Amino acid sequence: MAKRDYYEVLGLSKGASAQEIKKAYRKLSKQYHPDINKEPGADEKFKEITEAYEILSDDNKKAQYDQFGHAAFEQGNYGGGGFGGFGGGFSGADFDDLGDIFSSFFGGGGRGRRNPNAPRQGEDLLHRLNISFEESVFGVKKAVKFRKDVTCEKCNGSGAKDASSTTTCTTCHGSGSETFVQQSIFGQVQSQRTCSRCNGTGKIIKDKCAHCFGKGYNNKEVEYEVDIPAGIENGQRVRLSGKGGPGVNGGPAGDLFIEVIVPEDKYFHRDGDDIYTELELSPAQAALGTKIDVRTLNGEIELNVPAGTQYGRKFKLAGKGVKNVRGYGVGDHYIIAIIKIPKDLSQRERELYEELAKIRGEKSSEGEGFFEKAKRKINKALDDL
Ligand SMILES: [Zn+2]
Ligand SMILES: [Zn+2]
Repeated sequence: MAKRDYYEVLGLSKGASAQEIKKAYRKLSKQYHPDINKEPGADEKFKEITEAYEILSDDNKKAQYDQFGHAAFEQGNYGGGGFGGFGGGFSGADFDDLGDIFSSFFGGGGRGRRNPNAPRQGEDLLHRLNISFEESVFGVKKAVKFRKDVTCEKCNGSGAKDASSTTTCTTCHGSGSETFVQQSIFGQVQSQRTCSRCNGTGKIIKDKCAHCFGKGYNNKEVEYEVDIPAGIENGQRVRLSGKGGPGVNGGPAGDLFIEVIVPEDKYFHRDGDDIYTELELSPAQAALGTKIDVRTLNGEIELNVPAGTQYGRKFKLAGKGVKNVRGYGVGDHYIIAIIKIPKDLSQRERELYEELAKIRGEKSSEGEGFFEKAKRKINKALDDL
């Protein structure tokens, strides 16, 4: 027997006010209350009136009923959490996500589920490699050795002993997912979950490959030769196509990324493709000028230091920096002049500095007192140890 409309039960029309609903219930409950009315069927009638009133006197439930009719309260959802969130209405259902609900409810097919037998690319892998500063500047070929999963060569990744040991899963017919029907406020809702029999693979392997125990891959040590390009910097990566994790269902392997770790050099300071080094000069060298050998990435060169070179002066050696890793030219090498002031002057040196100061009319602490002389001798003795 089809359920009667709640408004009809109370003798009202849709859109009746809360006041009207209450009034109708009072009137009818007095009329059909089992304590008052002993006529056959009065009991059923009273239950019907009470149920209608419970729904229509509750704003939330009334709103659901107005929208979905009796379907809103079927399958134990009566008195449930209402329509505020989907969770309230669906009890115990194991949905993958809301997409499943919508695609099945609106019946348009929705988004397709991934075919479990479609070939898929393997995972990308990352391996770190230590190289020297020189190797980063000039490039290097290196062998890298590590363990990774490799497609089983016996079964070609299928995990089966031979072609006849694999059958299509009869539970999901190869789709990898099961459909189940759930009652809800929408009426019947079809939903999908991963097939419990085949774990979503769509296949059942009767006889597993003995070499990989059915996994389709084995963990093995591999060795690859990597071409590290000149100009690479700490933290940059080289990609080795197809040397990553094994593909699934005959799909291609992922990629392998080699990330280089380059230590700082004590002498060459790198900034992008440019190199900075310091050049120590004595006050005499800076004042008089000199020719001096300096180390560059490509060997020593003779640098012409002009007279009157100031502290911090930058000498640029164009094109003597690092080759750009992407082939965009070569950086420069900058040499920064540092003037080193001597700390332990000999007697003779001191006399010359004093004379120099005198010539230039500069004030200086003249002569060496007994205390200074003693201190200098002790320091010298300690340095000579
Ligand atoms: Zn299955
Ligand atoms: Zn195998």
